[in-house]
Parts: sequence; structure tokens; C-alpha cells
Amino acid sequence: MVNITEGMAGCWLDGHHGWHNIYRVIEIAQSYGFQVDDEDEAFIADWKRWRGGDMTAEEDKNFEDGYPEAMNDLSDAATDYLDSLAPDGMAFEWDMGELTLRCLCQVEGSEENALLGANKSQCDKCAERERF
Ligand SMILES: [Zn+2]
Repeated sequence: MVNITEGMAGCWLDGHHGWHNIYRVIEIAQSYGFQVDDEDEAFIADWKRWRGGDMTAEEDKNFEDGYPEAMNDLSDAATDYLDSLAPDGMAFEWDMGELTLRCLCQVEGSEENALLGANKSQCDKCAERERF
């Protein structure tokens, strides 16, 4: 299995893909070993058709109940899975529909971010990375 390394910091899912990112994060997580059962696979396929407007009115009516919670739960679980593989000191974060792997010093509300204080925008490690 491929490891997630510091060198992979940055944008993983671009915001211009819009709602597609909700399932794309699941596909990425799967490529790193995230397990999805057959029932979930079928649900995701249905969800894509539903979200893309490809369902008949009758199917649509039957599907409404399962959205958005079930899909959001899967998407969140996939994000948590990727986050558990993030290198030490880094985290995956959603911001405005974009998924980014970033240093914890850049994650608002983190201890590392609080430690920066008012005059620094990044930790020493990030400053070091930027020089190369
Ligand atoms: Zn940093």
C-alpha cells in the first residue's frame, strides 16, 4: 500500500469538482485501503445517479430518505480514514468543498495553530519546507 507522505501536502480535491468530491474522497480512501461493502457500493452508485439527476421520478421518491445523511457519513468515514494515514503533524481538512492535506499549524483550532501566535503564519517546519 502507498503511504501518504509530507510531500503530498496540498490540495487533494479541487473545489471546482463541486458535489463530485463527496464520492471522490471515498474513491481516494479506497485506493488507500478503505473498505466499502457491496451495499455501500450500490448506494454510492445510486447516489451518483440521484445527484446527477439521472433517476426517474419514481426512483427519486424512494431515494430521498437516504440522502444526505448516509452519503455524508460515508464521506466523513473516508475522510477520517485518510486522516488516520496522514503523516505526523498533518491533517486532512475540508474547506469550501476542497480537501487539503496540510500541516496542523495551518489547521484553525489546532494546538499547533494556537502556538503560532499573532506574528507567525506558519511553523518552522513549514518555513523550512518552503525554502526548497
Ligand atoms: Zn506547519
